[in-house]
Amino acid sequence: KAPDPAIAEIGVKLSTVAHKILVLSGKGGVGKSTFSAHLAHALASDSTKEVALLDVDICGPSIPRIMGLEGEQVSCGLYVDDNLAVMSIGFLLSSPDDAVIWRGPKKNGMIKQFLRDVDWGELDYLIVDTPPGTSDEHLSIVQYLSSTHVDGAVIITTPQEVSLQDVRKEIRFCQKVKLPIIGVVENMSGFVCPKCKNTSQIFPPTSGGAERMCADLNLPLLGKIPLDPRIARSCDEGRSFLNVVPDSPAAKVYQSIVQSE
Ligand code: ADP
Repeated sequence: KAPDPAIAEIGVKLSTVAHKILVLSGKGGVGKSTFSAHLAHALASDSTKEVALLDVDICGPSIPRIMGLEGEQVSCGLYVDDNLAVMSIGFLLSSPDDAVIWRGPKKNGMIKQFLRDVDWGELDYLIVDTPPGTSDEHLSIVQYLSSTHVDGAVIITTPQEVSLQDVRKEIRFCQKVKLPIIGVVENMSGFVCPKCKNTSQIFPPTSGGAERMCADLNLPLLGKIPLDPRIARSCDEGRSFLNVVPDSPAAKVYQSIVQSE
């Protein structure tokens, strides 16, 4: 079968994007979109950098809400700040409660359209928030990006074995499709009581959590982000928590990732 001509077109289109980072998770609800959005905010806090965030989580696009853009409707990218652009299927739905019930080929067509037809322009970073798991969408993203350099994937997990199990599958997927793994982030990693300041493990890392998994598989653990009600609140309100809690352990994780980029 002849390769899809879109692959070459996307290669040309994205040749002006210096770094491309995919954000993956084995499960839903582990904080993948929260991470993608805040990595974009953290990278864009350097006003000399141009950053874009692309949400291809077609069945559950939560980026518009987290970025404070819910209810906006556009067919191309939307700017949060001068140097931070966002594109999401959520902008194409008539209401945030609308459901996208599409089969694989239609989803793949939408991903192709996002990558090929949105005018990304000159960018330092393109962060792609993907759906949970390893589905059709992941295969099509990897295929559509095959004629351009991708820095790699950041994988988000909680400390719980149910999440780590799926992350191991995600890692095997990356290895199979030759997608480099930048590292793993453990989210919801402990809860610091705002009153007594003691740390509790809500999701007990029975098998050693992401730390152990990364050591076993020889992958970098990029950081641990605690469960923090301020993170949940600012996401719901569509504000970056990096402004709200600049000295939080979570903010430090983003800073260290940005500094190593
Ligand atoms: P995913 O993209 O993996 O489905 P989300 O990023 O949408 O997950 O996060 C799921 C929910 O958990 C959201 O309501 C979000 O605000 C919340 N959340 C994510 N990370 C944290 C955290 N570290 N502390 C508190 N709440 C969090």
